[in-house]
Amino acid sequence: MKILIVGGGGREHALAWKCAQSPRVGQVFVAPGNAGTAREPKVCNVEIAAGDLNALVEVAVREDIDLTIVGPEGPLVAGIVDRFTAAGRRCFGPSRAAARLEGSKAYTKEFLKRHGIPTAGYATFTASSFDPAFVLAQRLPLVVKADGLAAGKGVVICETHQAAIAAADGMLAGEFGAAGSTIVIEEFLRGEEVSFIVAAAQDQVIPLATSQDHKRRDDGDRGPNTGGMGAYSPAPIVTRDLRARIMREVIEPTLRGLRLDGTPYTGFLYAGLMIAEDGTPNVLEFNCRLGDPETQPILMRLESDLVDLCGAALDHSLDRIEPRWDPRAALGVVMAAGGYPERYRTGDAISGLDTAAALPGKVFHAGTRIQGAEVMTAGGRVLCAVGLGANVGAAQRQAYELVHAIHWNLVQYRRDIGYRAIERERVAQ
Ligand code: AMP
Repeated sequence: MKILIVGGGGREHALAWKCAQSPRVGQVFVAPGNAGTAREPKVCNVEIAAGDLNALVEVAVREDIDLTIVGPEGPLVAGIVDRFTAAGRRCFGPSRAAARLEGSKAYTKEFLKRHGIPTAGYATFTASSFDPAFVLAQRLPLVVKADGLAAGKGVVICETHQAAIAAADGMLAGEFGAAGSTIVIEEFLRGEEVSFIVAAAQDQVIPLATSQDHKRRDDGDRGPNTGGMGAYSPAPIVTRDLRARIMREVIEPTLRGLRLDGTPYTGFLYAGLMIAEDGTPNVLEFNCRLGDPETQPILMRLESDLVDLCGAALDHSLDRIEPRWDPRAALGVVMAAGGYPERYRTGDAISGLDTAAALPGKVFHAGTRIQGAEVMTAGGRVLCAVGLGANVGAAQRQAYELVHAIHWNLVQYRRDIGYRAIERERVAQ
């Protein structure tokens, strides 16, 4: 079989690495990939941007690709699955209509409300309907969100009414382009955040191993928001009971609602949840794809064949599949370029990759490129070093051994990835 992975980050390196392990797979193409996918056995890069749907369809037809898995949301929201399907190519992910769950927050809030799925109270505005008096009447803090895709930057948590009005005005004035022409203002929820990811095929669903990520740049979950500085699996907060509750109160009604609305969902579905003190799983957001960096530790633990899983979903036979997970914990530490998440450096030579390759665990690449004999930084998040261990604490030790073997100028990473889970493990002992 030939597989195509769309994207070039750490998630896509992990997808390519995992697909290449399948005995049924002869070749994995990654568009555009990175230095890590370029060096992976059975994997090669094709120089096509993840958003170039025409070129992607063309290469899938030319190379006779059997299965395409799409990493990032952009091409899914733009309709890559519809395009591939029309060209007779199997592509795992939601249709353009189903991917609106990530593409429009206003649509998703209305969907959640209509189907009785728990989420924060909210109101939606455009430039012509926005009323600062509404903001002034709300309790603080308030959360202001751009409706469309804004590369993770379109959410502002506001401690004052003035800040909320300013954030709303900025978005409606075009700060995020068309993504902010509609905004959602919602109530601030307290609790602990959990990511819950499933593989779905219309009415069939398989939850993946649980995971949790760290969004803030600095230790102690402080500093600016990022795409994610590390993640681990399993997430001890997601007990058997909570998992059942999330399935019953969020995942199943969401898939049912999408079917009823005429936009059945096939693909990975990622629910960003805020677990309230009473255990209510409130939906913060949906992503129509796997998370990055959650995918890296999750796939480290997947023992069964990912190609079989995606193929079964496309055949609507997920009920015949039961994925096997390594009982060990996995933990990934993101190594980022100096300056990230603001303006960051690129073009620094990375040393120690060969030393790290000889250690246990796995280093997934994100923003890297090959230049001659060297691997250079080429993005904000550069690597994700993943360790495995009997518990999250042991996985953390293995991950940081990899991190300590690798260096470049002004590298930055958190030193406490997994600390909440490790504290839970300590208390449980
Ligand atoms: P989103 O893209 O909607 O998930 O928002 C990004 C981040 O903002 C989330 O991961 C949360 O940390 C935070 N956030 C979003 N909405 C809320 C909310 N209603 N209450 C508290 N925090 C929120």
